[in-house]
Amino acid sequence: MQVKTLPQDKKAQYLKGVGPRRAKQISGLGITTVSDLLYYLPRRYEDRREISSIRDARSGAIYTIKGRIKRHGVWKSKKGMVIYEMVVNDGTGDIHGVWYNQPYLKKYFKGGEDIILYGKAERFKYLQMTHPDYEILKKEEDSLETAHMNRIVPIYPLTRDVTQRYLRALIYRALDNVKTLKETLPTAVRARNKLVDIRFAVKNIHFPGNFESLKMAHRRIVFEEFFILESALALVKKKVKRESAGVRHKVEKGLFESFKRMLPFKLTKGQIDAMKKIEEDMMSPGPMNRLLQGEVASGKTVVAMYALLLTIKNGFQGAIMVPTETLAQQHYLTMSEFFMPLGINVRLLIRSTGNGAKEEIKKELKEGDVDIIIGTHSLIQEGILFDRIGLIIIDEQHKFGVSQRALFRKKGIKSDVLIMTATPIPRTLVLTVYGDLDVSVIRQMPEGRLPVSTYWVEEERKEMVYKFIREEVLSGRQAYILCPRIEETQKSSLSAAKAVYEHLQKDVFPDLKLALIHGRMKGSEKGRLMRHFRGNKINILVSTTLIEVGIDVPNATVMVIENADRFGLAQLHQLRGRIGRGEYKSYCILISDPKGENARRRLEAFEQLQDGFELAEEDLSIRGPGQLLGTRQHGLPEIKYGNMIADKDILELARREAFELVEKDSGLTDERNRNLREVILNRYKGKLGFFKVG
Ligand code: ADP
Ligand code: MG
Repeated sequence: MQVKTLPQDKKAQYLKGVGPRRAKQISGLGITTVSDLLYYLPRRYEDRREISSIRDARSGAIYTIKGRIKRHGVWKSKKGMVIYEMVVNDGTGDIHGVWYNQPYLKKYFKGGEDIILYGKAERFKYLQMTHPDYEILKKEEDSLETAHMNRIVPIYPLTRDVTQRYLRALIYRALDNVKTLKETLPTAVRARNKLVDIRFAVKNIHFPGNFESLKMAHRRIVFEEFFILESALALVKKKVKRESAGVRHKVEKGLFESFKRMLPFKLTKGQIDAMKKIEEDMMSPGPMNRLLQGEVASGKTVVAMYALLLTIKNGFQGAIMVPTETLAQQHYLTMSEFFMPLGINVRLLIRSTGNGAKEEIKKELKEGDVDIIIGTHSLIQEGILFDRIGLIIIDEQHKFGVSQRALFRKKGIKSDVLIMTATPIPRTLVLTVYGDLDVSVIRQMPEGRLPVSTYWVEEERKEMVYKFIREEVLSGRQAYILCPRIEETQKSSLSAAKAVYEHLQKDVFPDLKLALIHGRMKGSEKGRLMRHFRGNKINILVSTTLIEVGIDVPNATVMVIENADRFGLAQLHQLRGRIGRGEYKSYCILISDPKGENARRRLEAFEQLQDGFELAEEDLSIRGPGQLLGTRQHGLPEIKYGNMIADKDILELARREAFELVEKDSGLTDERNRNLREVILNRYKGKLGFFKVG
């Protein structure tokens, strides 16, 4: 039975030619509904519009040939292969079609029949095509058969048990049977952006009339994908703003001015802009959800401190969460130095905090005696209760996607949230992974910062590097030496680092104070070392792991990275950011004898480029977006049709339109937006932290 006017959300099995076995096979491609089928896009296309004469065919080229079957039959080769072979003539010459192990084709074709063959011509004894695509012409009136020939033909990504021919015919039929396709794009949006309607798009993405139509179809489908995602993000953002009547801060007059006067330096424009935006966010009734991006050492901490002061002045508590204990300890030092004299109570809560102290802090928190709590991300998990939390700051965290943030809200935490990251994030990722956040960027560095000079030297010149470190230390500065793990087990790499450390201390710098810090060290021990380093009681810090992000020792001016080719550009940039934080000229020295040409080029690029955004773009194009942030882990559905780099302009357009639409119809309750609303719910339900729209 031919089902006519099938709705697109019906199971594919309702289509003719799809029984239970077939249904199972195509479900392996992710196709269960008719809609899945229609949105299963070709990987590439073949132009089979032009018919060539057999006489003109050259060996090795691909042709579409139209002729008559002169004779055909099955025979066995010497090696025992069953071969079906036909000879086709088009009036200019003969060509042989050859199929291995498909003797049943004999029954399918008839001598004297007109046929089209498509494939690579090769000259052996005869001119031949092996396993060409075919079309029997007398069946032309049957629409199914014209799917494969005489047109631009789609080629799909397939698994082994589904053939191109089968899927192509199936999609052709589905297109024929589904009379109405759901249009998700509002008419006005389509008109403004010159986007073709859904029917034209789906038809032409599979069976384009010409390449111009294909382009229009593709543009529309990519736009649609981005538009749906961005609409969902806009809804999340709107909903958070509207529903969670967040904490509403008041800003007393002159607070900013008096804060500024307390600082030993002049704020940069980027810092001031960020603070003003944060002020606005915190004063508005909805909760703040802001991402603060700024190069390493661009001065994000002071921005955070202002936000904390604001919340405390309003009688609330503030929390800072960081990825590591060392960083927590460092923030604790900076913050208590600044806030304690103002009578603001700052506490540190990390794993190594003694049990007794922990209980006390928890009690104080609950009773509201603690104003600022600093800790690792476990702060949020440990069942910590606040008396009245007004602001949560997440520092150095770029791997914190929409769904994780949604968790916060699920826990009923409605305070303002500020996320800070030093990882420059290319704009396309900001628009997708962080699409529901407001974003501030600190672009310029504090005044008087000298750019870090970067040098790449080879192993044999190590002695010179050591000599240089000594000079710097003797003039009062400090140095990091990073010895990353080499392909060995953790243990032996640790002992290798120990050996390096001992060698340096004994033989190279016997008169200086060195210390070794490594990944398996206890938090408290690391904290003690870092404190000593900060206080310049240690001259040279030898480390096995990435020196933790956010560490701030302005007096350290040298960063030596051994085996530097083991690191990616982003990591190297993070490391270089540890220095150049104060008033002194700083030096980053890469020691490496790289093996590959790629590594060599990376090191050279790193010597040249200072700007983190430039390096990030470079990384994005080398490694791709999925890798760069691990977008999968963010719980964001992958982007299937669009390409974040190539289709960046379409993404920008779609975002603008989506946010405008949601601004006007914040629950997508307008009848005209019903299809859009439905598809968003289907696609993102439970994924972006909202379960109900509107
Ligand atoms: P990051 O953005 O990496 O978190 P920090 O906030 O740790 O950077 O700042 C790095 C260093 O720069 C700190 O020692 C801080 O005191 C200093 N600093 C911050 N802002 C300024 C400024 N406007 N002028 C001079 N120094 C500043
Ligand atoms: Mg920082």
